[in-house]
Amino acid sequence: MLKSLGKIGLLVPAFAVGAAWLVVLRLKDVPVPLLVVYGLLLVGLVVGLLWPGVLGRLATRRRVLAFIGVPVGLGTLGLYLGVVYYVTDLPVLLALAATACLAWAAAAFLRGRRAAGGRSARSTRRAFLAGGAGLVLGVLSGLSVDRVERQRREVLARGEQERQAAVRAPGARRRIVDGAVRVFPIHTGDTVVTYGQFYGGLDGWEGLNGYLRTLVDKAQIAVPVYAYLIDHPRHGLMLVDTGVNGEQAHDHDGYYNHNRMVSRLLTQRDEYRLTPEQDLRVRLARLGYDAKEITTVFLTHVHDDHAGGLRYLPQATVVLDRRDWEHGTVYPYSFDLVKDNLSFPAFDSGAFGAFPDSQDHFGDGSLILLPTPGHSPGHMCVLLRLDAGNVLFMGDTLYTLPHLATDQVRQMTIGGADTTHQIESARRIQHLLASGPATVPLFAHDNTRYQSDLVVSAFAHGTPGKEGLRELRRYMEAVLTSGWRLRPGHTPRFVPPASGTGLGRVELR
Ligand SMILES: [Zn+2]
Repeated sequence: MLKSLGKIGLLVPAFAVGAAWLVVLRLKDVPVPLLVVYGLLLVGLVVGLLWPGVLGRLATRRRVLAFIGVPVGLGTLGLYLGVVYYVTDLPVLLALAATACLAWAAAAFLRGRRAAGGRSARSTRRAFLAGGAGLVLGVLSGLSVDRVERQRREVLARGEQERQAAVRAPGARRRIVDGAVRVFPIHTGDTVVTYGQFYGGLDGWEGLNGYLRTLVDKAQIAVPVYAYLIDHPRHGLMLVDTGVNGEQAHDHDGYYNHNRMVSRLLTQRDEYRLTPEQDLRVRLARLGYDAKEITTVFLTHVHDDHAGGLRYLPQATVVLDRRDWEHGTVYPYSFDLVKDNLSFPAFDSGAFGAFPDSQDHFGDGSLILLPTPGHSPGHMCVLLRLDAGNVLFMGDTLYTLPHLATDQVRQMTIGGADTTHQIESARRIQHLLASGPATVPLFAHDNTRYQSDLVVSAFAHGTPGKEGLRELRRYMEAVLTSGWRLRPGHTPRFVPPASGTGLGRVELR
């Protein structure tokens, strides 16, 4: 009886670990049928080792190990190499294999001492063979550390060469200094997200449930990541957000907490796509600017796809809401070089429209910071006065133009008070846009025509002018009613990829 209880006690953690491993594999896109077969073998192995009799009269622990254990072991190794493996794992894998060989050698050696005659000689021979293999693997593990480091340095060096070539390519702009305030949208790569995380906030994508769904739901789309450059005649060069950096895209594992196992198991390796031309420094150079000239970054929030470029701006003052710094998801690698340059607004400039608090950053009304918590604890939006009107940088408060229809389209929210704050922030933004007919919203992830056609062309020279802003507002009113409902033809819907795998796309209907 007690023995059975002990076995059941072993069963529970074994199944928990197995289930977690299966979730990781699914997250890495391993097909469901393969996972079912593999999962059944795992169950057979655990049950067979604890109660061999269950698998049949002839089953013994030794046979279970040989006929199920070996395939499961090889399968696990294969799956690990196929979907989790990074080149940086090589020294670790070799060291593990060396340890296993040495343990085997020790066991064989002890057996040899206890046995007599021919069996003893055989065991001793095995001990020497296994021990030799263990030593060789150990030496290889040590040597591979260097080789792996060299390989990573080569990847980064190649990236740097491509970046330099992209900066030098013909067709770059020259900076124009004529006293105008300029704003340039900067497309710094794309990010792969689940459709539900992006658009499904009203369809049950909320709180913990939403996060679990992002682990297994494979309805994915790619959306752009935008930062914005502000060239201001009085206040200098500034950025709103900074996009992703090259390491996030090409050395994803190295970026996320420096090879911490949990983050590598739970993140997708190809979450970000960034071409050499989309590097923040290249984009700035192509517009006639240098990243070193940026004096201030307004960070709408600390998420990694907004903070990645901070690595290229060690000289800049980074303005962000203290609540995001203290309670948000901060990725240390993004902030390493700027953590001493942070500046937290006091939000003591009084009410601004529907916003109870605001920060008139320069004291001249040219740039107002507005708290919009919800997407993150201290999210903020930035309102900039242009010569022809205003632009409102949305960060992730609302991902796209259709998201302004808060009661029809909503991104995933954290749940509870955060969801309430998110909706409150959205209503305040609606109010601000409704009361300011010359104010246009600029989004960080808009994947509709609004961004790719209208914003990009209106801001091609940084100065949209009154007519440019009016054009954007006209389009906005063609998509949304004055009551913030979507007009027909603008409701997003997921279209699965034609081949069954890969990325889907968003259709507006
Ligand atoms: Zn975000």
